[in-house]
Amino acid sequence: MIRYHNAKIMTMNGSTAVTEGELWTEGSVIRYVGRQPAVLPEFEREIDLGGNLLMPSFKNAHTHSAMTFLRSFAEDVPLQTWLFEKVFPYEDRLTPDDVYAFDRLAILEYLASGTTAAFDMYFFPEASAAAFSEAGMRLTFCGSISGTAKDVDRLNDQFRKFRHFHPLVSYRLGFHAEYTSDESLHRAVAKLAQAEKEPVFTHISETKKEHEECIARHGASPAQYLDSLGLWEYGGGGFHCVWFDEADRAVFKKKGLWFVSCPCSNAKLASGIAPLTECAEEGVQLALGTDGAASNNGLDPFREMYLGTVLQKLRKNDAAALPAAELLKAATVGSARAMGLTDCDVLSEGRQADMIVIDMKAANLQPAHHIPESLVLSGDRMNVKMTVCAGKILYENGVYTNGIDADAVRRDCASRIARLTQ
Ligand SMILES: [Zn+2]
Repeated sequence: MIRYHNAKIMTMNGSTAVTEGELWTEGSVIRYVGRQPAVLPEFEREIDLGGNLLMPSFKNAHTHSAMTFLRSFAEDVPLQTWLFEKVFPYEDRLTPDDVYAFDRLAILEYLASGTTAAFDMYFFPEASAAAFSEAGMRLTFCGSISGTAKDVDRLNDQFRKFRHFHPLVSYRLGFHAEYTSDESLHRAVAKLAQAEKEPVFTHISETKKEHEECIARHGASPAQYLDSLGLWEYGGGGFHCVWFDEADRAVFKKKGLWFVSCPCSNAKLASGIAPLTECAEEGVQLALGTDGAASNNGLDPFREMYLGTVLQKLRKNDAAALPAAELLKAATVGSARAMGLTDCDVLSEGRQADMIVIDMKAANLQPAHHIPESLVLSGDRMNVKMTVCAGKILYENGVYTNGIDADAVRRDCASRIARLTQ
């Protein structure tokens, strides 16, 4: 067992209360959380956290990890130009080995900013499964098919191959978006989800244009149209949800769907500000994602949490709108549950040890009046001292301890990017 002691602990098990104590892990599992008992067992390693904060790790509930290769490639251009001239043609050139390499670049950033799981939508799931599992990180791969009903065979094949692929790798049914597929695909995915009793995820109502075009095509918003086809009989959710109205949120509330928000990407691409305040008030479940590094540009949960709350205050013209702690819950517990990682959500006995240590001595976190709010409003990814996934320490004090050679990853990516963008 490994003992993490002399810690402040925020278990996030029902509240964001912070207590003093210790936590023990055995293999991938948390064996004890609480005050120091009178008698201690033998430990393989004892880590004195020096009063720093132990809390659940972040989970990135919407990303395209390998898009790291297009970070800062085209900036300050309109969305359609960016997507059709600066993203799609270059993505067409990617090989599985490229995706593996660019996933590893993303993993360096995830681990250094306290993220232990990615809900990833991209090409070549085999390559991503290898990159994440070798690095000790969790990957929930989300289906991203587009087209017509015949494309659902590929989704079904991937689902069968990856649903129980590796202890760190899982799969969720999904398709790219309503506007990149036709009704035959939507009906076939709904049928598959019902047969398998599985949740379904998709990009939804990210831009006003796509939201309104769906209404023109189907006489209903994307959420109401897809719900009418029986897509979400076993749950799931949507990525972005920027243009959701009350009726759309009611669908998500009724079906227990996850509203996965990506505030930085939505701001950068001028897509809009999602109605997170209304979701929190109405009991719609919230999760947070970064989207890909080309549209964000970071893979940084702290920026998402910060923008997630302050944009609501601005949008509602109310400094009390959407309390900061709601974003902390969305980025950790909410995102874990959205991805199906229900045993990786909070710090309690029997749960997976997916957790981070925050440097509470950092100047930007002093004084520690209200720790959860301070993490959201004052926190920074540089405050992450340690990242643990499935009980393994993958990152500690600026060093990757999972065998990944950060310099080699950067060199490999640089030569691939030169080839792809020439
Ligand atoms: Zn996306």
